[in-house]
Amino acid sequence: MQLYCESLTGYKRLPTREVKVGKLLLGGDHPIRVQTMTTTDTMDTMATVEQSIRCIEAGAELVRITAPSKNEAENLQNIKDELRRRGYDTPLVADIHFTPNAAEIAARIVEKVRVNPGNYVDKKKFEQIEYTDAEYAEEIERIRERFTPLVRICKEHGTAMRIGTNHGSLSDRIMSRYGDTANGMVESAMEFLRIARSEDYHNIVLSMKSSNPQVMVQAYRLLINHMMNEFGECYPLHLGVTEAGDGEDGRIKSAIGIGTLLEDGIGDTIRVSLTEDPEFEIPVCKDLVKRYSKDRPPTTDHEVPSIDKLPYSPFEYRRRESFEITNIGYRHVPVVIADLSKLNDIKPTDLEPIGYKYDAATDKWFIGDAAADYIFCNEVLNFDLPGTLKVLLFHQQWLAASDKEKYLLLLDTYDYLDDKISRSASVNFVMLDCYNGGVDKDIDKILAKLKADKTAVICLSSPNSNSMQSIRRMFVELIQNDIKNPAIVICDSSHATTDESLIHYAVETGALLIDGFSDGICLGYHYGNNAIAPQTKLLNNIAFGILQATRTRISKTEYISCPSCGRTLFDLQETTARIRAVTNHLKGVKIAIMGCIVNGPGEMADADFGYVGSGPGKITLYRGKEVVKKNVASEVAVNELINLLKESDAWVEV
Ligand code: SF4
Repeated sequence: MQLYCESLTGYKRLPTREVKVGKLLLGGDHPIRVQTMTTTDTMDTMATVEQSIRCIEAGAELVRITAPSKNEAENLQNIKDELRRRGYDTPLVADIHFTPNAAEIAARIVEKVRVNPGNYVDKKKFEQIEYTDAEYAEEIERIRERFTPLVRICKEHGTAMRIGTNHGSLSDRIMSRYGDTANGMVESAMEFLRIARSEDYHNIVLSMKSSNPQVMVQAYRLLINHMMNEFGECYPLHLGVTEAGDGEDGRIKSAIGIGTLLEDGIGDTIRVSLTEDPEFEIPVCKDLVKRYSKDRPPTTDHEVPSIDKLPYSPFEYRRRESFEITNIGYRHVPVVIADLSKLNDIKPTDLEPIGYKYDAATDKWFIGDAAADYIFCNEVLNFDLPGTLKVLLFHQQWLAASDKEKYLLLLDTYDYLDDKISRSASVNFVMLDCYNGGVDKDIDKILAKLKADKTAVICLSSPNSNSMQSIRRMFVELIQNDIKNPAIVICDSSHATTDESLIHYAVETGALLIDGFSDGICLGYHYGNNAIAPQTKLLNNIAFGILQATRTRISKTEYISCPSCGRTLFDLQETTARIRAVTNHLKGVKIAIMGCIVNGPGEMADADFGYVGSGPGKITLYRGKEVVKKNVASEVAVNELINLLKESDAWVEV
């Protein structure tokens, strides 16, 4: 065990206890299970059954259904009976917030219950409460009294349980002692886990969700570390990013959070929360999980040296120290390099998909918020480039370029080592394939040369199947050797579909950015077997989406929208689309769109503004955690949100 996983240099699944959910086994050596949650009203038996079936047919191995009160909990029996009558025996999970009574009913009916330690017994009113140690211990006793009956019912009925902590809904008690931190999330779950263990009940799965993938990843790592230290074993983990949103951004955010952990062998079941119909979550889950299936060919890559001691903390974010070369490294946001090397005879219009629009009438370039900083291509261009854009060329083409400020040299490792090859006196990009056997024998020589070279921007890539670990290992090598040159990650894909490529890019680069590695990214592709080349615009969107999701470079409005469930009070998908249409130019503003007032305010985490359903046809608007406009009629609520943005100086005219 290495702090939080079995191996930091190759794929190895974290061993966890086996848990039984109905007939389904998860954890241990079992495949990573995929699941989702219905969005229908739980009292509408047929609608919930029909939607559950669509999810099951799409591949869901567990289906979660909200049970906000006793009535819904009781109706789970009708839903279950109807599903069984139609031949579906997929285990059902009751989602509980605030209502122990509903949990105790549901635990006798369905195969698993999910409780949120932030609101099962504790409350959240955003109050700061000071506890002495004795008072705190008394509170834990109160939780024990209230939670133990549910544990006993689960034990008696063979029902599994998820202790599901959410970053956004930590109780006032936990917040007062631990703050809004990964540590607080872990302790919140550990309190419940200790009580369950004291009853000798172990049919438990845990989760540590957040809408911020960075916080989420740190919390899961910390939880594993705490479980191993305290119990010497781990319970299975359910992975998910909450309120990830929809479309490309929702998929990127989820892939980064979930994929970063899966890469390290962590995770026994996953849910991708999208503001879309739940059956659409399943293909994303499957694309993620198949990267780690048992059929995955064994790693035949060249040896990646093991890491004895990590020179950084995996439990907190700190960007790797680097010096600056032009606009790369040090405190500059990570740059985006667009790979245009597959294009010939590049024209100004070819730059539109990467954020540059040329207007011939005024002879001006218009530059978008998500405009690539560099392009990599094969030729000197026959037009004047926008002022902020530079071009990377291999040595032969670079020699032909007269403007060496605009055209920068990209060297492969062997050319870099050859002192007879000419180069720039100020900036050179140097490619380094990590642990692929080719340059490994010269690695000491390369590192020594890089260390003494203030012109070299390192471009890291790896063709290995464990490429993320290989590149991470090289970052460790750079830190251990005190090499502070800026370093960029190059990630290529040869996947057959753009959906798989999106997940590949998000996981491979996001996992590094989350640990503070990389001063830039370059996404490319190979035409592999049946591979479809992603469009330049899509690649550019994905690159900026990855930087936004890892919060390393903000280039657009961020939407935190809940996936909706049986509590939802308006059409979330339609409303999210309407809000997005009028606010998507507000760079850096975080807007939460939440279906209900019961969980919405707690779960919208660090949003700047909140649009929350507070009753049928009614919306409550928030600025941060403060209620600003209560029960606004939904017909005018989007306009009222715009007014609130204006009053708060967060609005700009298009
Ligand atoms: S915030 Fe959304 S997903 Fe969460 S309970 Fe409310 S309606 Fe359901």
